[in-house]
Amino acid sequence: MVFRDAARIVSPETLATFTFTEWIEQPIPSNEPAIRSPSIRIAAPEVVLLARYDRVPSHEAPFTRRNLFLRDDFTCQYCGRRCTTDHLSVDHVLPRSRGGSTSWENCVLACVGCNARKADRTLKEVGFHLLRNPVRPRWTPYLNLRPSQRMDSWSRFAPEHKRRTASNS
Ligand SMILES: [Zn+2]
Repeated sequence: MVFRDAARIVSPETLATFTFTEWIEQPIPSNEPAIRSPSIRIAAPEVVLLARYDRVPSHEAPFTRRNLFLRDDFTCQYCGRRCTTDHLSVDHVLPRSRGGSTSWENCVLACVGCNARKADRTLKEVGFHLLRNPVRPRWTPYLNLRPSQRMDSWSRFAPEHKRRTASNS
């Protein structure tokens, strides 16, 4: 988009904007991430400004498996362990066999161990507690990113940058 002039690169520190031609002339600090080609090395932009903007994103987060993993940050909502995708499953807090719905409010990530222990029982029956109350997440620019993928420089531009903590505060 920058190359096609549909966007400008923004310096998060100075807020100066750059066209592609201007940007490739910028010196690159040695430890900064860079994009390489056989002939040039370009600093990786962190913030861009769109020259045209014709679509406001939907403000509802769709209920999908992927978004549920992002909402719960790949963390078992019973024991708090962070796991890889293959060690996590979607658990119905109130089991489907008891009439529990497949929804943001009734589905959480559970690790293999917790899922097996809980089986078809309710929280009360198994003595489990949820880390967080499951709710539909609001749409944010970060919806498709894990917290660890967010860049510090974005905090000036998108206020919901703060990482969610384990508490509900
Ligand atoms: Zn667990």
